[in-house]
Parts: sequence; C-alpha cells; structure tokens
Amino acid sequence: MSDPLLFLHRVQEAREIYDTGSVQSPASVRDQILRACWIVDRARQAGRIGPDKPLLVVGAGAAGVSAALRASGAGVPTHLVEIESEAFSRQLSCSTRWIDPSVYEWPLTNHTSDHWGQMPQMPLPYSLGLSNELIRDWQSRIASAANLYKHFGCAVSAPPQPYGGRLRAEVRNNRTGNNLSLVIDAALWAGGPGEENTVCGQYRGFRFWETDPYAHPHLLLSGVSSRVLISGGGDGALQDLLRIAFDPARVRTPRDLLPLLSSIPSSTFLELQSAEDHAQRALIWNGGPNERKHDHPVFARLHDVHSRLARAFAPTVERELSGLLRDPLPEITFAHACTHFSRCYPINRFVGLLLLDILLRQGRVRYQRNSGVVDVVPTAPGVHLCGMDPNGCHGIDHDVISTTRGCATGAASRRLLGTYNVIILRHGLESKPRAVSLKIRRQLLPYELL
Ligand SMILES: Cc1cc2nc3c(=O)[nH]c(=O)nc-3n(C[C@H](O)[C@H](O)[C@H](O)COP(=O)(O)OP(=O)(O)OC[C@H]3O[C@@H](n4cnc5c(N)ncnc54)[C@H](O)[C@@H]3O)c2cc1C
Repeated sequence: MSDPLLFLHRVQEAREIYDTGSVQSPASVRDQILRACWIVDRARQAGRIGPDKPLLVVGAGAAGVSAALRASGAGVPTHLVEIESEAFSRQLSCSTRWIDPSVYEWPLTNHTSDHWGQMPQMPLPYSLGLSNELIRDWQSRIASAANLYKHFGCAVSAPPQPYGGRLRAEVRNNRTGNNLSLVIDAALWAGGPGEENTVCGQYRGFRFWETDPYAHPHLLLSGVSSRVLISGGGDGALQDLLRIAFDPARVRTPRDLLPLLSSIPSSTFLELQSAEDHAQRALIWNGGPNERKHDHPVFARLHDVHSRLARAFAPTVERELSGLLRDPLPEITFAHACTHFSRCYPINRFVGLLLLDILLRQGRVRYQRNSGVVDVVPTAPGVHLCGMDPNGCHGIDHDVISTTRGCATGAASRRLLGTYNVIILRHGLESKPRAVSLKIRRQLLPYELL
C-alpha cells in the first residue's frame, strides 16, 4: 500500500505531483510548513526523491521554501520556482501583523508550545514575530543553501507532464521570456491558496497580509471618530475584530488572551474540543474538494455550541477583558452572511463570540448576521474617491449595501447596512480558478506525527 500521507497530498490525476495549496484544514503558516516537510521526508523514505532524483517545488511561500530547504538539505537536487522576484511574497511587506506559531491549536493542549513537536531540525526557525521581521530572517536561510536552484521571477504555468518514467516541467522566465525544461522525479505544487477577495464594487479593502492602519492607536484617524465595518465570518474577519477592539499594545495575537482564557472550566474545554472534533469529521466526509453540502448544518451547530459556552463564560472575564479594549473604542459593526461563521480556528471563533457577547451587552457593537455585503459606495457624489487604493479610502465615508443571504439561499433584497469610514472586507479567497488548478482530497493535518 502507498504511504497514506503521500496518497492524501497527491494530485489525483498525476502520479508524482503533490499539492499543498488546495482545500486543506488547518492551514496556518505553521501547518503549511509541517505539511511540506512531512511530504518531503516521506517522499525520500519512499525513494521517490533522492540525490539522483531531483525535486521541483513550485511556489516560494512558507510551504514551498520549507520543502525546498528540507529536500536540498538532505542532498536532493531541488529546483524552487517562484513567480515573484522574492520568496514569501504573501507576508513579505506586512509590518502590522504578527505571525503566531502555535496559538491556533487551542483548545488542544499543545497551543502554548513554540516548538515543532517531534519534527527535528525545522528549516525555518519560528517564534512569535512581526510578519516582515520574521520573513527577513527566513529569506536569509535560502540565500546560500546547497543543492538548491532558485528560479525567481519565473513561473510554471502547467502541471509537469510524464516524460519516460519521469516528469518534465516548463519554466518560463517572465523577464527574459525564455523557457527552461526541467526533468525531475517528483514535483510539489506549493502555489498557495490563491488571492483574497477584498473588493466590493469599486472599493478595495486592505488584504490580510498588507500593511494597514489597524494596528495604530486611533487607526491613524486622529481627530476623526472611526465608524468601522468588519465584513466576513472567517479567520480574517475575526482576527480583525480583535485587532480593532483590543488595545494593539496589549493584544497582538489571540496568544495575549490566553491568561484570560485560563479560567475556562474544564467541562467547557472538553465540550469545545468535542464540538470541534465532531465538526472536522463531518466536514471531511463532505464530498469532493468543492462540495459543501454539509457545511451549513456543521457550521451552524458549531456556532451554537461556541456561542452558548462563550455566553456562559463571559461574566467571569468581562471586567478583565473590558480592561484590554481600546480607549476610546471605535464604533464597530460586525456583519457576516448566513447565521454562522465559516471555517475558522477554534480560538478565533470562541474569542470572537466572547467579545461580541460582552460588547453587545454593553451596547458597544452592532452585530449583523445574515448580512452579506454586496456594494460599497462613497457618500460624496461624483467620482469614486478611493480609486481602488485602500489608503485612499481609509477614513472616508462610504455607504455599505448588504443583502440577506444564507448558505443555502440566494441573495434577497438590497438594503443600506450603514455608513462607515473604515471598511474591512474579509470575503475569503477568489472563487475564480487559479492559472493551474490542482485537486487533492479534503484532509486534516494531524497536530503531531511521532
Ligand atoms: C485571510 C487569511 C488569514 C490568515 N491568517 C493567518 C494567521 O493569522 N496565521 C497564520 O499562521 N496563517 C494565516 N493564514 C494562512 C497563511 O497565510 C497561509 O496558509 C500560508 O501563508 C500559505 O503558505 P503557502 O506557502 O502554502 O502559500 P503562499 O504563501 O500563498 O505562497 C505561494 C507562492 O507560490 C507562488 N506561485 C503561485 N503560483 C505560481 C506558479 N504558477 N509558478 C510560480 N510560483 C507560483 C506565489 O507567488 C507565492 O509566493 C491566513 C490566510 C488568509 C488567506
């Protein structure tokens, strides 16, 4: 029988092509690094790659670079192809967001560790850090690696093709227009999850990993009162709810809220773990990579359990939590389609609901479920002032239009949700297919492999 880890990451229609970029869960930076390293280790053990069996890695993000360093460090000639001129293009220039190595594993017990479990000698050292600072350190790791052939500013635009028992890939240099043919024995497609959806009508919001004004006191709007809309029900929206509500000097990531969560009763912990486990098992049996028939009932149930437990826990921490909020707190509206959040890490779901519960009771937030944002229009008549530059839009009044929408129902009538001068859109990833669309099976990453 073939190795199950390789089997689960193998592109269905090709033998020696593995993929870390399709539908997966979980998918934090740490998860992607682990996934990539495990694939390389198992491919070596299975004799698929080795000193005379080169590997191609497409994409130099956290997953691709980890795989490339892992393989080249073990003596495997490795070609790393990246369409941009530098590695880690997603997080490279973000100076306002922290990357956390393990907090997203909460409520599992290893959420406090900053090590890599049983995985020895990780290629990218990782502890809590500001995105751009961490990335600068990581970039230095690929500068002088042996057996590593970097093809930056180059793209692979089609999956490698069979070539006499091996594979052949065409690499195009975007600057010179030249093509290079590579013959390899295996390929890892680490092209990432695709582009984020932060555009609504003529408006473009900041992308998640873009440097933004939200980490600054007063959101860089001194003298102007900020009316903030956060739209979306996934990890991006929930993390930005925390960033907008909490004092950025004291809460950088949900890790800074762990002391507050330490008083959660063990029965609550157990119920959360059980609800999460139940949901993940149900989602895995959902069907093909793009089939979502169980998503609504699974997410609705998960939302209800977290909501009930957060409401029961809120009085215990209300005072302490309120002391961590920004002062003054901006006016906040949090809106999402359907009745529930979508796929997100348990800590984001629980802390998001805890915060909403407390702020709602204090009358300090507007929470709009079943509200999918469909348009954002400047209130000033005439030309759209923003010009698709999020910095241009920041602080300027816009009317936000939403519709009543559920997972299973189409959009109903449009209505004005409100007028806001800070608008954060976290609407998931672009639904249009990527240039190269590969598919692997829905699967779950174990937290540690022994
Ligand atoms: C909204 C949002 C919030 C998130 N929040 C967090 C968080 O708080 N903490 C966390 O740890 N993780 C978070 N994540 C997840 C994390 O950002 C990603 O899982 C991780 O960065 C993906 O790494 P990767 O290497 O798989 O892909 P990427 O970082 O996307 O790298 C892929 C690389 O491949 C290149 N590429 C693509 N196609 C080609 C091609 N054909 N040829 C050559 N090169 C190509 C791209 O240019 C890119 O550099 C979040 C993700 C999103 C979208």
